[in-house]
Amino acid sequence: MFPDDNACLEWLKNARYPSGILCVTCKKITKHHKIKNRPVYECDRCGHHVSPLAWTIFHKSSTPLRIWFDAIHEMATTRTGFSAKALQRKHGVTYKTAWRIFRQIRTLLDENARIFTEEVEVDEMYMGGKRKGIRGTSLIGKSAVVGITQRKGNVASKVVTDVSRYTVVPLIQKNVTKKAIIYTDESAIYNNLDKYGYNHKTINHAVKEYVNGNIHTNNIEGF
Ligand SMILES: [Zn+2]
Repeated sequence: MFPDDNACLEWLKNARYPSGILCVTCKKITKHHKIKNRPVYECDRCGHHVSPLAWTIFHKSSTPLRIWFDAIHEMATTRTGFSAKALQRKHGVTYKTAWRIFRQIRTLLDENARIFTEEVEVDEMYMGGKRKGIRGTSLIGKSAVVGITQRKGNVASKVVTDVSRYTVVPLIQKNVTKKAIIYTDESAIYNNLDKYGYNHKTINHAVKEYVNGNIHTNNIEGF
């Protein structure tokens, strides 16, 4: 599947933007073309650049994508047997490079890396239409997505069957430690977080409240 780095990049682009790239300047999905010798795609209409490597473990790495992709394949299929040393031997990279690649990939395979603590924001939305369309109205064709972020830390998002406390609360319990302060909007989905042992603070968007001291969900909404 991956004869060269361009094939890897093209795969990443299609995986990250399955319905096309939304150009932030044009504010719509536009045609993009690959820039020669750079891991970047350019908007045909306005020339804005986007890199499928941004916010990924491949960002700013000088190691060819093919080596990364092969390492992911090896680690995902032979998780116990494949080491940084084996990666070094197979691809002729330095041990330092092999170890860095190995560690980055392992972070993604390791569920413990997804533990959120301290100050955490949670938000949910239906995507594929207007942002946060009124609940209960025409959600056909939209995907329910829950996002969790630790302030100044990682972010995770997951597509769920629907946004209700039955899908959202278990996700929080699985990913957020009890020591965390959780910030959400006033949605009833989050009503019982206190009972589950979380320190829960809400912002009341309904009355046009967006920031109350430290209480806001601006990070996860931005994401
Ligand atoms: Zn554009």
